Amino acid sequence: MFTLPRNPATIVTVEDNALVRSALTNSLRAAGFLVHEAASARELKCVTREKPDLIVLNVQLPDGNGVDVCRSIKADRDTASSLVLLISGESLQSSDRIRGLETGADGFLAKPVTPDEVVAHVKAMLRFRHNEKQYHLLTESIPHFVWMTRADGQAEYANSRWFEYTGLPSSESHGLGWLQQIHPSDRTKARKTWENAVATGLPYEVEYRLRRADGNYRSHLAKGLPIRDERGQIVKWIGTCTDIHAQKTAEAELRLRDRALQAVSEGILITDPCQIDNPIIYASPGFEKLTGYSTEESIGRNCRFLQGRDTSPEAIAELREAIRSARPANVELLNYRKDGTPIWISLSISPIRNEEGEVTHFVGVQSDITERRLMEQQLRQSQKMEAVGRLAGGIAHDFNNLLTVINGYGEMLLNRLGVNDPVRESVSEMNKAGERAAALTRQLLAFSRKQVLAPSILDLNSVVIDLEKMLRRVIGEDIRLATDLQSPLDAVKVDRGQMEQVLLNLAVNARDAMPRGGQLSLKTRNVELDDAYARDHPYTQPGAYVALVVSDTGHGMTSEVKARIFEPFFTTKGPGMGTGLGLATVYGIVKQSGGYIEVFSEPGSGATFEIYLPRAARAIRSSKSQSGAMRSPPQGSETILLVEDDDAVRSLSRLILRQSGYTVLEARTAQEARDAACRRAEPIQLLVTDVVMPELGGRELTERLLVVHPEMRVLFVSGYTDDAVVRHGISEEEVNFLQKPFTPLALASKVREILDSVPAS
Ligand code: ADP
Repeated sequence: MFTLPRNPATIVTVEDNALVRSALTNSLRAAGFLVHEAASARELKCVTREKPDLIVLNVQLPDGNGVDVCRSIKADRDTASSLVLLISGESLQSSDRIRGLETGADGFLAKPVTPDEVVAHVKAMLRFRHNEKQYHLLTESIPHFVWMTRADGQAEYANSRWFEYTGLPSSESHGLGWLQQIHPSDRTKARKTWENAVATGLPYEVEYRLRRADGNYRSHLAKGLPIRDERGQIVKWIGTCTDIHAQKTAEAELRLRDRALQAVSEGILITDPCQIDNPIIYASPGFEKLTGYSTEESIGRNCRFLQGRDTSPEAIAELREAIRSARPANVELLNYRKDGTPIWISLSISPIRNEEGEVTHFVGVQSDITERRLMEQQLRQSQKMEAVGRLAGGIAHDFNNLLTVINGYGEMLLNRLGVNDPVRESVSEMNKAGERAAALTRQLLAFSRKQVLAPSILDLNSVVIDLEKMLRRVIGEDIRLATDLQSPLDAVKVDRGQMEQVLLNLAVNARDAMPRGGQLSLKTRNVELDDAYARDHPYTQPGAYVALVVSDTGHGMTSEVKARIFEPFFTTKGPGMGTGLGLATVYGIVKQSGGYIEVFSEPGSGATFEIYLPRAARAIRSSKSQSGAMRSPPQGSETILLVEDDDAVRSLSRLILRQSGYTVLEARTAQEARDAACRRAEPIQLLVTDVVMPELGGRELTERLLVVHPEMRVLFVSGYTDDAVVRHGISEEEVNFLQKPFTPLALASKVREILDSVPAS
């Protein structure tokens, strides 16, 4: 450790002449120094143990030459740092003076010299030493490793930081020893930079990792400067080596955080609530991607620019309150992209606090939840449709029984009235109203998907072609009908009658949307709905489909109308113009057929309905004609077991069947039916049973009765069916089925048709 000279400085006067010595000693003491005396070289040895700051040494001593004594002082570790002022004899040559200085003396005076002159010289030498030590101390106090090299680049000095850093003595840094402590990967760079600096004489900077005492490497910044003499020659290099590991690590961490911010797809915002209007001061690339607004467009603005017409004021109020009270908050809100498209955002904001706990900023993380919201909305919509469907199905069930009775007796009454009977017209009007009510009930059933379908494998093109003529009549002359049918078209398994209903309903709507004419286009295509489509359209299964596309050039619809068109009873048409059941029916039929429907429409640019029906695996069978209903009720004499829980419907059915000549056994419940069947020993040719009954479904009842009367044929009657019945195969083609409400003629004809057909083996 270096210290400034003690005060007063210690001086030894070495002079054999006692008079001269004491004169000198007195002068030095008078100047404030602590002075020891020695009369010879031997005596000097005794006092140098005190480590004097300066030795005034006479060249001629009785026991030796002062020059040699000086050399040994400088060679001795204990005294090497003492300054030596040589005082020569009068006869001294200048060559002797040079020799004296070269031995390491720090000053030289030639006799004759006065004591005051010596004192002045001593003071000057100590002043110089003082300055030198000050710089040394400064070097030691610097918290960096400081070094010095010779002009040729060989290190010769290192401050004690070298030891603190590396745990090695400073001598290990000497020469090019310092290079050994540098990380092997950085060593070549460090060496080349240093050699280049030495070769060019230019200051330099270089970073490298230095091995520290604990064996770990830490990053350091080394800087070097050349020191030049008065002729401009480099005599030394001095430099520092600073530990920049913490700074480098912090920089690397910052860079990592920055890269992480760049990488996340969520939008990250930082706002400054201390500025007016809490402006954005940082927007991540994720935010740019999410919103379409660039960083430059966003910085300095309040987030308000992302909000719009349908953004919930409650969500905004919640955010404002959180910011006001420096709390975190999570909200879902509707924002708008730069191109105007709405985007649902889940936004979480949190306050950022400084060391004092004061809120300086807010950070917000935004994620796109549009898809989730859309799915939730679709789920809510389908749940609503399901509920309305169940309600409609229930109503239709009751109505069908009532209408069977009203229409049945109405038709029977009409048949009894003579052509000129005065009440005939009234009864006829009543019957027509009953038929219209029955048609409405059918639509309700179709929507509620509770109707019994008779699906068959068919070619949609044939449905379109067969219906074309009728469609032309429906749409009128001002509207052109264009068809574009792909051939061959894959088969689908649907109810032909229901598909005709779909086409008809869509055509009627298209006509209503084009009061001044236009074009109705029908297109069929084989399509493959891939995974990407299924992802974009929740509830859609990827696979092969047949698409039926119906588009018009009409007035189109707003998004509000579009959102509600499939709801039953939703109509924008004037009173008496629309029932609001057309598209609900279409929706129900398509859904029940396992398909999907999509609508594209904008106000003023027409509407397009795309219906996707799953491709059927089986080949198309030519469907047999359903026509051929007979004019007058066909007669018979067989025995029929009639099972119906509704008394009015049962009475009517019994009447129709008895009038047609049959023997009718009646049952109100399954139990009564079983009793009647057991009582009857003779054959029962036909069972006419309702599908849905309180105790036992028509299907189970049939199975049990067939055990007793295996000869019995079966006709199912229903105005309504639940999913279980459809699942259990009542809807299959081979089953005989009559839809309620039925007319007397329809029942009599169907009964005859079954009794006359060849029984399935
Ligand atoms: P309705 O035709 O009895 O009104 P729908 O269920 O068939 O009932 O249609 C519901 C509503 O959907 C219509 O009132 C109409 O506003 C709209 N709509 C249906 N089809 C079209 C179309 N092709 N162009 C424009 N709007 C349509």
